[in-house]
Amino acid sequence: MTAINLYPNTESLYMGVDTMTKKLYHQDPHQEECTAKVTNINSNDVEVDQTIFFAFAGGQASDTGTINNIPVTEAKKAGKNIIYTLEETPPFAVGDTVTIQVDKEKRERIIKLHSAIHFAYFLLTEKIGQQKLIGSNVTDQKARADFAYDGSFAEILPELQEQFNELIKKNVPVRTFPSDSDPEKRIWESHGWTCPCGGTHVASTGEIGSVILKRKTIGAGKERLEVRLA
Ligand SMILES: [Zn+2]
Repeated sequence: MTAINLYPNTESLYMGVDTMTKKLYHQDPHQEECTAKVTNINSNDVEVDQTIFFAFAGGQASDTGTINNIPVTEAKKAGKNIIYTLEETPPFAVGDTVTIQVDKEKRERIIKLHSAIHFAYFLLTEKIGQQKLIGSNVTDQKARADFAYDGSFAEILPELQEQFNELIKKNVPVRTFPSDSDPEKRIWESHGWTCPCGGTHVASTGEIGSVILKRKTIGAGKERLEVRLA
């Protein structure tokens, strides 16, 4: 069992409210629409009791989408809550029921890429040992993990790619579940690998489809491992 804080749940010092936005994307990351009750409004900022709309955390990009057809310009975590900034002042009020929609295509790509970077990370560190992770990011276009590393990943990349293809072919199950210590924190687990992660993921590696692994030097003693969907 390896426990690496690759995509930690984002902590916040925000203490203004003691409520919590229920995060429906943990139950079904493929859900593209839900209804919710508005719990707070502050100018263009809106809070709701439950959501499918992911807010940037642990390197994973926010979703794109709307609340009652009004575009969300920013989604940010605030403690256990999520605050959505709308493009215009909401015409609805606290207590109203609204419809939340996310860009399904973008979300699906993020799910695949986010899951893929975990596998790429673990395959890599099984080869070269645990290295200091200095950055990570997941968008709908690519996922990356940056390491403090004096060598180059160039030589081992073909083997990583082959092993990754093998994992996809085997359709290995992926599980995410709440941590015992704090149900708001979540654990990602697959293929005997585990790490804390509050992101959205595939249910098995076959869902990822196929990926292309790349590497880059991003400065002296720094290597980047990058994953794109093929
Ligand atoms: Zn993750």
